[in-house]
Amino acid sequence: MDRTDTALVWFRRDLRLADNPALTAAVNQCARVIPLYIHAPDEAAPWIPGRASNWWLHHSLCALQRELHQAGAKLIIATGPTLERLQHIVRQTGATHLFWNRNYDPTSMSRDRDIKQRLTGQGLSCQSFNANLLSEPASILTGQGTPYKVFGAYWRTVSGQLHQIPPPLPPVRRISSPSKDLPTLSPGDLALLPRIPWDGGFHSVWQTGEQAALERWEQFLLHALPAYDRLRDFPDRDGTSRLSPHLHFGEISPRQLLWGLRQQADQSPATVTHLERIHSQLGWREFAHYILYHSPRSANQSLDRRFEKLAWKADDEQDAELQAWQRGETGIPIVDAGMRELWQTGWMHNRVRMLVASLLTKNLGVHWLQGARWFWDTLVDADLANNSLGWQWSAGCGVDAAPYFRIFNPATQAKRFDPEGRYIKRWLPELTGAGKNVLYSGRLSDEPFDYPLPILDLSRSRRDALQRWERIKRQQ
Ligand code: FAD
Repeated sequence: MDRTDTALVWFRRDLRLADNPALTAAVNQCARVIPLYIHAPDEAAPWIPGRASNWWLHHSLCALQRELHQAGAKLIIATGPTLERLQHIVRQTGATHLFWNRNYDPTSMSRDRDIKQRLTGQGLSCQSFNANLLSEPASILTGQGTPYKVFGAYWRTVSGQLHQIPPPLPPVRRISSPSKDLPTLSPGDLALLPRIPWDGGFHSVWQTGEQAALERWEQFLLHALPAYDRLRDFPDRDGTSRLSPHLHFGEISPRQLLWGLRQQADQSPATVTHLERIHSQLGWREFAHYILYHSPRSANQSLDRRFEKLAWKADDEQDAELQAWQRGETGIPIVDAGMRELWQTGWMHNRVRMLVASLLTKNLGVHWLQGARWFWDTLVDADLANNSLGWQWSAGCGVDAAPYFRIFNPATQAKRFDPEGRYIKRWLPELTGAGKNVLYSGRLSDEPFDYPLPILDLSRSRRDALQRWERIKRQQ
């Protein structure tokens, strides 16, 4: 190794300076380091990032720029095609090394393999690292050497190995970089912000970037963790971490969370149930990435192939219902509250995600991909692995899915998880004066609220769905 070498650090979904193995390795191995972000959304087709994700990305890149600036480096922002752009910058800078942290979705993996092969062939040293998961998907297999299909068994194996995970790397504080002399685009040049400004509500809810992620995590440990297992299902309570977009963009790493939880366990053993529960939620995130890695088709097709033959509604039959669902106008209050929370803040509580997904796929019989696409466009935490798993689980067609007969009843769910209707009233102010029956089940035709009547009969649609699902499940 020659300490006169120049390294490119290619940032992707790891927009942080702490616990960033690619950045740390570059700083340790090379004399000069150039941080680089290449915007090439088309390369993620067919899952080109949606509008809410782009909003987050814009602000996260701004935050990364500031962090890198403080460390002495300028973030170079460029557009793709990625391989050509990398080759160009290598020629321009004389870089000898390229470092990145791995993504595990199928399109990134095949592109990265190609890039590694081409650039290594041209004499560049390419090194990649795991920074975004606790365990590498390829390394976790059953005794028969096959991928796990159920979460419980998978997580038992992974949990047994968590003690081997080393502590997170400290933040890189000083970068010696020639990047200030290089041309760059600004985040604004990438035109990521929405043209129709519907993002006003996002600003009041979210702070983006690594520092904001760390602050949110500290707040969670202090205020929400002590009651996590008890309150995490109540959408009106601040009972969960809301770290999902920060995790998706890699502003904080799962390893930082794991070690933070370990410290918490040492300090306060009384919180053990809550710790186990948040560990297991992080486990679901790992499992989602694991499933997508081993079954790349799960982003686009039902994993249980029998569901490809299910009588989902045809496009022209579903248009009005899909639109009512998207706009939060189904007349089912908890579902509409969730859909409006999504539209206004780019996020929805997990319990409500399950309810709106169950209603769309089961009661309304609309293909889960339609729901997944809407979430993809409107969630700031849109994540191919978590979204595909969440939708397939809800529709009952994935691995380890909800049992087919689990069709959530939104009325009983609202009664249980939003007993006072506070969540519903927050997102549906038109129901402010409504009694509990209306809040749970929707309005009757003689009730004077400026709110739609239910677009479906919950009991009948549940019966019909059960029959369709039973027919599919009987097929071999
Ligand atoms: P916390 O309860 O604080 O959990 C901490 C972290 O664990 C989360 O940030 C998340 O990274 C992970 N996690 C928690 N629950 C799950 C889960 N069920 N599956 C996978 N990871 C989980 N999550 C996304 O990040 N992106 C998505 O696009 C997405 N789409 C979903 C679609 C549907 C239909 C459903 C039912 C769930 C979806 N989820 C998705 C999972 C889950 O709803 C969110 O991760 C969670 O609500 C984020 O809130 P939080 O950060 O406060 O979670």
